[in-house]
This record gives sequence, structure tokens and C-alpha cells, in this order.
Amino acid sequence: MKYILVTGGSRGIGRAVCVRLASMGMPVLINYKSNAGAAQETKRLVQEAGGEAELLPFDVADPAMVDAAMDAWEATHPDDYIAVLVNNAGIRDDNVLFMMADEQWKSVLDTTLDGFFYITRRILKHMMPRRRGGRIINITSLSGVKGLPGQANYSAAKAGLIGATKALAQEVAPRGVTVNAIAPGFISTEMTEGLPKEELEKMIPVGRFGRPEEVAEAVAFLVGENAAYITGEVININGGLYT
Ligand code: NDP
Repeated sequence: MKYILVTGGSRGIGRAVCVRLASMGMPVLINYKSNAGAAQETKRLVQEAGGEAELLPFDVADPAMVDAAMDAWEATHPDDYIAVLVNNAGIRDDNVLFMMADEQWKSVLDTTLDGFFYITRRILKHMMPRRRGGRIINITSLSGVKGLPGQANYSAAKAGLIGATKALAQEVAPRGVTVNAIAPGFISTEMTEGLPKEELEKMIPVGRFGRPEEVAEAVAFLVGENAAYITGEVININGGLYT
């Protein structure tokens, strides 16, 4: 059986992606780092929508945890494989660069960039044999496309993810695997709580923050059969803020 793995599926955009993709007929593996209660709620929402879900906690930035979780999953699912990977786990820890602590720089890059590397390397072993094919969707950001002040760490990580998307897309295309990125602007989740929303909305042509479900819809499109010829692309979802 084919499975979908969504990293950071416990909350926000990841949760909406889990619920939306569950309707595509494949069970969803909900990854998260520490928020088990929120992950359980995502599982409940997937089941409520008629889908199947399992929790798969690990820290994407810790290669030993990634391998241990995948070893355990593979041992209990010998006839199954992961055909869709959504690299969504991410954090932000903003500061102006001249005051940025080593840990602020490192933790943001570790989660977005190292996290992408460890789990994607592992999952490609599911997709590549016998040209089974697959879909990889990386959630980058407007920050990675345009750069945003106070986010040199986050912008660097997300821009790096775009570079990796384009390189990997060319590597694995002959094996029937597509690799694309989605770059959201401001989306209403816990990550954007505390931002000056009214001020920011004045800059957005559509006049509001986006909803997690609006990002999930684009992920579903890229997962679909009809998107087989789209690879190495970045889809911006930002209400016209930057094109
Ligand atoms: P949230 O803060 O709402 O959720 C973050 C998710 O990532 C949680 O599920 C969290 O798990 C998980 N996570 C964080 N670190 C790790 C880790 N080391 N290992 C595994 N899981 C981890 O964020 P959003 O939903 O807003 O963002 C999702 C993605 O979209 C991120 O990559 C973000 O950078 C990107 N994005 C968001 C935008 C926005 O406006 N919201 C705009 C552009 C991009 P747990 O619950 O266990 O903490």
C-alpha cells in the first residue's frame, strides 16, 4: 500500500495538508516533534474526513531519530512504501543578523535544511526501486524567494530548500519522482501569531492572510496524477504580495 508522510503534520499548514491528502485514498503518516496532543487532533480530523492516519514522531533535524523511526515503521509495514513526502516541518527564530545568536542561526537551518536532507534521502529509497515513482513537495517560503529583513536565517534556509528542490528534481525525474516547492506568504497559523497582522494585510493585494487549506490545495494538485510533468517548480501562494 502507498503512504503519505507529512513532516510537521501536527499543526498549522501541515495539519491542513494531512486532512486534504487523506481524501486522495492513501493513509497519512503524521510526523511531529513534541506536540502529541495536536498530532492526535490531526489524526482525529483525518479520520473524521474518512481517511486513515498513523502518528510518526521524530525530530527531522536528528538523523538518528529519523532512521530509528523509519526502521521501526518499515519493520511493521514490510509490504508498504511511502509514495508522497511533504517536507513541511519548520521553525522561525527572527533577529537582525548582527544580533543573531549562533543557536538561532543553527536551529532554523537544522530544521528546514538538514531536516529536508535526512528524511528525503531515506524516503527516496522507497520511491526509486523499480521506478515506483513518487512525489516530494517542499514547503519553502516567500522569505526564501524574496528575503525578509530580520529573517536572514529563515530566508537562507528556505532559499537553500529551493536550490535543493531544483537539483533533486533533475536527479530523480528519470525514476518517475517529481520534486516541487510551495512558497507561502503570510498564512494564519501559530507561526504567524504575534505579527502585526493589520499592518501586514495592508501590503497584501488580496487584503488578508492566507488559510492553511489554501496551501494544502496546491499540495494536493502536485500530488495528483495530472501533475506528473511538473517538476523543479516553485508555486507562490501569497495573495499577490510578491510575484
Ligand atoms: P506551525 O508553527 O504552526 O507548525 C510547525 C510544525 O512543524 C509543527 O507540526 C511542529 O511540530 C513541526 N516541527 C517543528 N520542528 C520540527 C522538527 N524538528 N521535527 C519535526 N517536526 C517539527 O508552522 P506553520 O504551519 O505555519 O508552518 C509550516 C511550514 O510552512 C513551515 O516550514 C514554515 O516555515 C512554512 N511557512 C509558513 C508560513 C506561515 O505564514 N505560517 C509562511 C511560509 C512558510 P510540533 O507540533 O511537535 O511542535
